[in-house]
Amino acid sequence: MSIIDSVKGAPDLLPPVSSGFNAIESAMLTTALTYGYERIRTPVFEHTEVFARGVGASTDIVNKEMYTFEDKGGRSLTLRPEGTAGIMRAALSAGIPRGGVLPWKVSWVGEVFRYERPQSGRQRSFTQMDVEALGTTDPAIDAEMIILGWDALRNAAATAGKTFDESNLEVRLNTLGDRADRPAYHAALNAYLDQFETQGKLPKDVLERRHLNPLRAFDSKAEGMAEIMANAPVIKDHISEAATEHHRQVVALLDAEGIPVIHDDHLVRGLDYYTRTTFEYQATNLGAQSAVGGGGRFDGLAEDLGWNEPFQGIGLALGVDRTYLSIYGVSPGDPNPGLARTPRVDVFGIPMAPHHGPRVFHLITALRRAGIRAEMGESTRKPRALFKSADRAGAQFAIIIGDDEMMNDEVTVKHLATGEQHTCPQDVAVLGSIVRTSD
Ligand code: AMP
Repeated sequence: MSIIDSVKGAPDLLPPVSSGFNAIESAMLTTALTYGYERIRTPVFEHTEVFARGVGASTDIVNKEMYTFEDKGGRSLTLRPEGTAGIMRAALSAGIPRGGVLPWKVSWVGEVFRYERPQSGRQRSFTQMDVEALGTTDPAIDAEMIILGWDALRNAAATAGKTFDESNLEVRLNTLGDRADRPAYHAALNAYLDQFETQGKLPKDVLERRHLNPLRAFDSKAEGMAEIMANAPVIKDHISEAATEHHRQVVALLDAEGIPVIHDDHLVRGLDYYTRTTFEYQATNLGAQSAVGGGGRFDGLAEDLGWNEPFQGIGLALGVDRTYLSIYGVSPGDPNPGLARTPRVDVFGIPMAPHHGPRVFHLITALRRAGIRAEMGESTRKPRALFKSADRAGAQFAIIIGDDEMMNDEVTVKHLATGEQHTCPQDVAVLGSIVRTSD
C-alpha cells in the first residue's frame, strides 16, 4: 500500500521553514496590533452565499475557485477563499454597526482556500494576514491601512535580516470611485470594448465576463489585452467629486509620510466589492505572481450581505506564503536543504549510560519548568551519538551525568562551542544562571 501524499497545491510547511514562516506571520500581526487592530477568529467555512454575494458573481474566485461542499445537514458551505466577506458577515451578525465601537478594527492570520492552478507563488491552500476597519469613511483610515501593510511587509523581511524598500517593493494605488459612478464608467468602457469585440479581438475570458463586470477586462492576462487596455478610458476620470476629494486626501496623507506610492489607473483588483481606494503591494523579484498583498474599500459590501443601511469599511490581505517566497527565494512548501535550522533548545541532557537516564530526565524537566529550552537524548544511545544530537538541536550547553556525577550529586556542564566544561551541583538555580548569563 502506498502512502497518502498531501493534496496538490496544499503544501506542508516543515521545520525549519515553519519557524521562518511563523516569524513572518507574527511580525505582520504585531504590526496590526501596533496600529490598534485586535485579533479576531472566525470559522474557516461560511454559508456559500456569504462569498457568492460578497465577493461577486463576475470574479474567478466565485466562478471557479471555491471549495464548496454540502454538509450532512444539506447546507451549502464554502471554505473561505478570502477574509473580508466573512469578517463583514461576523460584524453584521453581532450587530456591530448599531452597538459596536466604530471603527471596528480587527485582524487575523489563517489558511485561505482557492482552487487555482498550482505554480510558483500560487497554491490552493495558503495563508493570509487580513486586516479590516469597518464602520468608517475616513480617508485617514485608508492611508493608515496602506502604511500598515507596507510596515507589516517591512517588518516581515526584517525577521530574516532582509529589507523591503522602494527598490524591491512597490505599492500601487488607484481609486474605483463609488458604485453610483459605475454605470456611466461602465458605459464608456463598454463602448470602448465594443469596437474590439466587433473586430474579433477580445479573448474568451473578457467576452465571458465583460457583461457581468467590464472592469474584469483590466485583469485579463490574455495575449494582446494589455495593448487594448492601454488606451481604455480610466475610472478616475469618471468618478464623483466626493470620491475624487477622498482620493486626494488619501494621497496627501501618504505623501506626507513619505510612502512611495505608484499611481496605477489600471489597478482594479480581482474582487467585485471594491469601491474608492484600491491598492496592491508587489515584490519586484517575484515574476508573474508578484502581488504580496492588496486591499481596498468595500463601501457596498454590507448591503450586498443584506444589511439595509450603509456600513462602509476598508481592508487589506497580505499573502504570507508569497512574502516568504520573496524574502527567502524559495516557496515555503519546497524542500529546501539550503535553509539554516534555528536552534531548538539551549540545553541538551546526556546520560552516559541508560541507568543515568532518570536523573538527567529529572534535571531537564526542572530546567524546562523554569522556562529554559531543554531536551534530553535517548539514554539507550551512546554518548558520542548524543553529542551529535546536541549539536543538531542547536544547544549551547550539554549537561552530562555519569557514575562520578551520580556519586557526588553533581553534573558536568559543557559549553559545546568552546569545549570548556566544569562540574556544578545538580541544582536548577545554578544551572539556570549558567545558561542565562551566556546569552
Ligand atoms: P487577494 O485576496 O486575491 O487580493 O490576495 C491577497 C494576497 O494573497 C495576494 O497578494 C497574494 O500574496 C496572496 N495570494 C492570493 N492567491 C494566492 C494563491 N493562490 N497562492 C498563494 N498566495 C496567494
